[in-house]
Amino acid sequence: MNNVIVYCELSEKNSIADISLELCTKGRQLATRLGVRLQAAVLGSNVEEAAKSLFPFGVDDVFLADNPVLAPYRTLPHFTILSKLIQQQNPDIVLFGASSVGRDLAPRIASFLRCGLTADCTSLEIGSHEDVKNQKNYDNILLQMRPAFGGNIIATIVCPETRPQMATVREGVMKKEIFDASYKGTIIPVAVDESVMAADKAVSIISREIEEQKIDIKGAQVIVAGGYGMGSKENFQLLHQFAHLIGASVGATRAAVDAGFAEGERQIGQTGVTVRPKLYIACGISGAVQHRAGMEQSSKIISINTDPDAPINAIADYTIIGDVMTVIPQFMAAYKNNLK
Ligand SMILES: Cc1cc2nc3c(=O)[nH]c(=O)nc-3n(C[C@H](O)[C@H](O)[C@H](O)COP(=O)(O)OP(=O)(O)OC[C@H]3O[C@@H](n4cnc5c(N)ncnc54)[C@H](O)[C@@H]3O)c2cc1C
Repeated sequence: MNNVIVYCELSEKNSIADISLELCTKGRQLATRLGVRLQAAVLGSNVEEAAKSLFPFGVDDVFLADNPVLAPYRTLPHFTILSKLIQQQNPDIVLFGASSVGRDLAPRIASFLRCGLTADCTSLEIGSHEDVKNQKNYDNILLQMRPAFGGNIIATIVCPETRPQMATVREGVMKKEIFDASYKGTIIPVAVDESVMAADKAVSIISREIEEQKIDIKGAQVIVAGGYGMGSKENFQLLHQFAHLIGASVGATRAAVDAGFAEGERQIGQTGVTVRPKLYIACGISGAVQHRAGMEQSSKIISINTDPDAPINAIADYTIIGDVMTVIPQFMAAYKNNLK
């Protein structure tokens, strides 16, 4: 059984991106289950400190390609270094973030190596697979789970014959957790100059304009989320007032975003962000499976809905049956009263 490799992305500050730390946390679990080493590939410029920061996440070896040609990210140099590394190491599993970088690099690598790739996985496990048609059993393979058919089913996808088994995962779907703060791994330098060809440097970046993200609800501890049941953009303002009062962030469903009640960055769910707050207050949200995919790991859920049979109520810890425009002001008044 060969190792697990996580391709690590870098943030604008040259630290390891959250998505990659989340993948290392998952990668550690998979590697432990398989009894193999967890390895990471860090490609960039002046990234030794970033590489070392991976050890507490349980990374055993970091392949470090440190060269100015690798920063900022460009497809060809990263593809050349990473594909060569994968060919040399022959890992069993390679994981990428489902970010713009991961979505650019992973399919190119999969096509080059002629192996499978499952995009946007929501869960990764090690397990067995029985190929009934060919009467073959496969043990210890990567089970790659993701919503399919518009999110109405969760499909388990396997690549039993080809290696490596590759998957991308969206940010926030997996948890980022320190494995052992004093965990020690090894840095393995990767030669860059002799691998990267002139053609790989054909694209040069003249200037980069990066718009700062203004709305970021990923790490919020309390979220007040509104759905189509809020009725209008004006009514949605009540959620902002409520959130401001209790120190929460405002989230939304896709229906609310599509109706223009809220900005796209606030969308929670399968095609939005995944959140895990301590408290999630769902206001006028039916609880479609695509929405639940992004919030059902919240510690406590309160639902406010006129429909007692709304699916969100089935996963809510507390359900308030009523009109949002009546219940939320009552909530706010009670909260203010408690502060006195
Ligand atoms: C491929 C795909 C991806 C998707 N991705 C996402 C995603 O990432 N995120 C997402 O959210 N959705 C996503 N969707 C859409 C999803 O299927 C639902 O359509 C959407 O979540 C419904 O949003 P909603 O609950 O706001 O609206 P509705 O389903 O219309 O529900 C409105 C709710 O408000 C209640 N209500 C109405 N009036 C009031 C009132 N005055 N007071 C209290 N309650 C009231 C109603 O009883 C109802 O339960 C996706 C769909 C597809 C096919």
